[in-house]
Amino acid sequence: MPTKMSVRFWGVRGSIGCPGPSTVRYGGNTSCVEVRCGEHRLIFDAGSGLRMLGNALSEESAHVDVDLFLSHCHIDHLIGLPFFGPAFVKGNRLRLWAGNLKAAGGVKQTVRKLMSYPLFPIEIEAAQGTIEYNDFTPGDVLTPRPGIKVMTTALNHPGGATGYRVEYGGRAMVYITDTELSGDGVDPALLDLVRDASIVVIDTTYTDDELPEHVGWGHSSWQQAVRLANEAGVGKLFLYHHDPEHDDDEMDRIAEAAARMRPGTMVAREGLAIDL
Ligand SMILES: [Zn+2]
Ligand SMILES: [Zn+2]
Repeated sequence: MPTKMSVRFWGVRGSIGCPGPSTVRYGGNTSCVEVRCGEHRLIFDAGSGLRMLGNALSEESAHVDVDLFLSHCHIDHLIGLPFFGPAFVKGNRLRLWAGNLKAAGGVKQTVRKLMSYPLFPIEIEAAQGTIEYNDFTPGDVLTPRPGIKVMTTALNHPGGATGYRVEYGGRAMVYITDTELSGDGVDPALLDLVRDASIVVIDTTYTDDELPEHVGWGHSSWQQAVRLANEAGVGKLFLYHHDPEHDDDEMDRIAEAAARMRPGTMVAREGLAIDL
């Protein structure tokens, strides 16, 4: 069995999609990351980037079978789900996972809420594919497929969110969005989640200069992420969930400054793919 692991970014923005000439290089779609573990496809978040990923999966295979993990259900992380083509095709299978929705009645109820009158023209029940709904508690360890271990932890975000660590074939990829890293000392559970990971993708909506105006908003700065990565000995850091107000030139400046502070650090952009 092949143990190749790779990551591809389909949407890297936070809060709202921001297409246009000033965001064309880094991309305007919201959160969506594909992780391939051998034959298996894992997806993190159902932002607007999920639509293009769905098209690519349908082109690649007549039978799509994927696990989709939601960090949380703020609209920028869920809006792509009704446009995920493979879910509407008979024979395909979509396994949804979410870790902080029990108070909202679970992930199924949440999807039904989004796809209901007067917000959306069709209900999720119109999907011809098989959809599985899996609720869990942050802190649980999941085994979505044989050989793939997914650790989870609660993040610091209004309404809650879940961070994930995927372990496969001796490598680890961590996905953390949305979260507000604290100024004084990192949450030990979060430190455990990222420790020695090969790749960490993390919410860096702001710069340190912008943070004071956004206390309590549930997001972090790229400088905080760099400090966390250094403390936890992670391999490569990817800045993610970019502020829609940061245009390509601003993202270039952040990329340069971050790479100076921690060599190898990269700003995630749509279409970027990495083999672990
Ligand atoms: Zn978000
Ligand atoms: Zn959020």
